[in-house]
Amino acid sequence: MATIQPNVTQVLVIGGGVVGLTILRTLTCDVKIKGVVLVEGEENLCSHASGHNSGIACTGVDAPVGSLERGLVRESMANMRPWLDKMNLPYRAVGSLVADWEESEGDNTSVMKKLSAVVEESHIAGDCDVVLIHDRESILKLEPHVNKAVSAAVHIKGETVVDPWLIPMSYASHAVENGAIIKRGFQVTEVSFDSSSGVWKVTSKSGEVHFAKIVVSCVGNWGDEMFGKLKGKPAHFVNKPRKGQYTLFERTEGMLKRPLQPVPTDFTKGVFVFSTLYDNIVCGPTAEVQENRLVAELDEATLGVLKETGVVRVPGLVDKKIVRSYAGLRPATSERDYQFQLDAKRNFLSVASIRSTGLTASLGIGRHAASLLSSVFDFLEVEKEKEIRTTSFKDVGEFIKEFRERGDGKVEIPFLGECVVTHPITQTGWGL
Ligand SMILES: Cc1cc2nc3c(=O)[nH]c(=O)nc-3n(C[C@H](O)[C@H](O)[C@H](O)COP(=O)(O)OP(=O)(O)OC[C@H]3O[C@@H](n4cnc5c(N)ncnc54)[C@H](O)[C@@H]3O)c2cc1C
Repeated sequence: MATIQPNVTQVLVIGGGVVGLTILRTLTCDVKIKGVVLVEGEENLCSHASGHNSGIACTGVDAPVGSLERGLVRESMANMRPWLDKMNLPYRAVGSLVADWEESEGDNTSVMKKLSAVVEESHIAGDCDVVLIHDRESILKLEPHVNKAVSAAVHIKGETVVDPWLIPMSYASHAVENGAIIKRGFQVTEVSFDSSSGVWKVTSKSGEVHFAKIVVSCVGNWGDEMFGKLKGKPAHFVNKPRKGQYTLFERTEGMLKRPLQPVPTDFTKGVFVFSTLYDNIVCGPTAEVQENRLVAELDEATLGVLKETGVVRVPGLVDKKIVRSYAGLRPATSERDYQFQLDAKRNFLSVASIRSTGLTASLGIGRHAASLLSSVFDFLEVEKEKEIRTTSFKDVGEFIKEFRERGDGKVEIPFLGECVVTHPITQTGWGL
């Protein structure tokens, strides 16, 4: 059995998006591994995909039944509301409506077929409260402001609108409260494994060095590159970033409660129209494959189409102002399902291809990563008797007040100190 040297971290997580942060929290607070460290290349956590998503905790309706993704989404959603309550995080458990929002009067046989398939698939996956609404009146009772052409919809009751920035920050805060360390501005450029001592040497762009027994890679759109470095040969998957653009309408209280989504395809869940927790109605995301892993450009023509989509589904948006646009890059790969690769010889776990459900599935992802690591690495030092502390966040209204009063785009997060709010939904919602 290998021995732990005092200056060698037991587990080093690379990547401070929602995936790295949930794994950091689970290893620290649930498995109780001593001194887990996370390094993030940027100066701020959640600067990439995790800071540019829709902020909907979903049921994974577009993930194939039986896939790891669908399983972890379901597991996570079973635990999400208790977590949000425990940490005092805001949410709206409103469900969503799936329909062909552009459907015209007349024969809707093919639409009904597609909607019935959504219901059937959901039931097979275990989401038995998903129901088909057959008549216009019932839909309009739920959502009086939607396009009156719609004649049928699927009500997915489990979907929940959340604050997409506060959730990953709650994982980071809880982990640090219980002994984890987060280093920002540590862009990993080199890794090397000494097989005789079983220790990784991880070097940053600025030459800082960290030693660790186990490395967990959670680097989003760079998953294939990091896997190649850790394994010493190319990954079996290739990252193919998928851009999602959004437009945000001005605050419009009471116009829309539930996210409106189209029938998902194998490629995408499609463009949603939804109200954030802060009453901005958002239209997006698109699904555009691109090469660039870093920059998500906006284009006016697409934003115009998004605005029109919003108006078609919710006609009252026609005279509402657009106040913001943004885009994010989903860490999609050549593989459809989540990619967890554990290498018990080279002591690493690679977590990749967490494409479009990483926020939703985060509690399941953390648990799954922890159980993979625990099943193989019996040399990990665990503090079984350690008492886990939990400091919940102040009310969101207090955060909003602080954000507005400070005016520097930051708020104070327990155990993390001043943090830049990176997510446009949170920034816009908290702004004046
Ligand atoms: C448009 C869009 C819409 C989405 N909508 C939803 C939704 O409604 N619900 C939902 O559940 N999910 C949604 N998602 C998916 C979700 O956002 C992702 O699954 C999740 O953010 C992936 O997290 P991650 O930690 O893997 O990646 P990231 O958040 O990208 O984090 C990876 C981190 O690794 C860091 N890193 C990379 N290389 C290095 C290095 N060499 N050294 C140090 N650090 C490094 C990066 O700086 C980055 O911070 C959406 C995503 C997008 C883009």
